[in-house]
Amino acid sequence: MSNPKVEINIRKLIANTKTIVDLAKNESIEVMGVGKAVCADLEVAKAMLAGGVKGLADSRIENLEYLRKNLDLSGLELMLLRIPMLSEVSKVVKYADISLNSEIKIIKALDKEAKKANKRHKIILMVDVGDRREGIMPENVISVVDRITNLSNIELVGLGTNLACFGGVLPSDKNMQLLIDLTDRINNKFGLNLKHISGGNSSSLPRLKEKGLPDSITQLRVGETILIGSNVINREPFPGTCQDAFLLRAEIVELKDKPAQPEGARGQNAFGEESIITKTGIRKRAILGIGRQDIDIDGLIPIDKGVEVEGGSSDHLIVDVTDFDKSLAVGDTLKFKLNYSSLLSAMTSQYVDITYHNLNQVANRKVG
Ligand SMILES: *Cc1c(COP(=O)(O)O)cnc(C)c1O
Repeated sequence: MSNPKVEINIRKLIANTKTIVDLAKNESIEVMGVGKAVCADLEVAKAMLAGGVKGLADSRIENLEYLRKNLDLSGLELMLLRIPMLSEVSKVVKYADISLNSEIKIIKALDKEAKKANKRHKIILMVDVGDRREGIMPENVISVVDRITNLSNIELVGLGTNLACFGGVLPSDKNMQLLIDLTDRINNKFGLNLKHISGGNSSSLPRLKEKGLPDSITQLRVGETILIGSNVINREPFPGTCQDAFLLRAEIVELKDKPAQPEGARGQNAFGEESIITKTGIRKRAILGIGRQDIDIDGLIPIDKGVEVEGGSSDHLIVDVTDFDKSLAVGDTLKFKLNYSSLLSAMTSQYVDITYHNLNQVANRKVG
């Protein structure tokens, strides 16, 4: 019963995954399940597989190593999302079937390691179609592919892109077509038949839902919309998903009526901010045993009406419960939905426990 704790509802996760997988399946697009925000939690990974994802993807090679050692993957592909570090290429070849790449120096190092391991390592070449995070500029793609085709232990399986991450650029007809045209040019010029056009992440789903994606897109890599059911373009709920597969539970350590306004000369708070408090009068305030050292408190969304987060410090969360219509006592807990940043920090935190609901939903399902 230790708090704070993240409660993970496996049934809801499977349902969210199915919604996305089915939506993509209509357009013959496969979904890679991205579990980096939950540190490759095994039960979450199993739920994604039960929901029909084609494979699992993560940004950290340690997480792929963990999945490979602890799941029966029989034939499922593990994909590394972050461009490999030169210092980790041997692990990449060992634990990832496929990696996303944008640097010929690293691709060559992967080739060398793959040769040593007597393997062929698959890569998707990332193209920057506008967001300005990772990827080769479009005009340089052909010359990079030319160099890759000389590497005997690297198999180029497709092109990919990442959107809405740094520049906030959304998938469009234009940037998707750029990727498709490049793939056609590569296939013609080098006599290849690239299997994948990995068109993006959760940010492609609203477009997929509303008007579809171009036929040639074969894959999406999806984390956030499966995990917390958000439309990542506007953070509204994504149709057909639930937003509370993860709930954070925190415990009340103090409950008192207090004047809303601080009293005394005021400077900055503990985090260098000058807090603006608009409420007046006497308010019922709960202090919860969770703070910024545990998680990112700014993305906590109370599930109960009449509960409002006022702010927090390293170890305390201050919550206004004046308008909450049930009785509360010290020792009770309050629950919160999490945004992506809070989920990420909660699942990474050594101070936050995890518990599962509806685990039996996957127990009888074959993994793979
Ligand atoms: C994190 C990541 C994803 C998944 O992004 P979501 O917005 O969580 O769906 C996909 N591709 C790459 C390269 C990533 O780093």
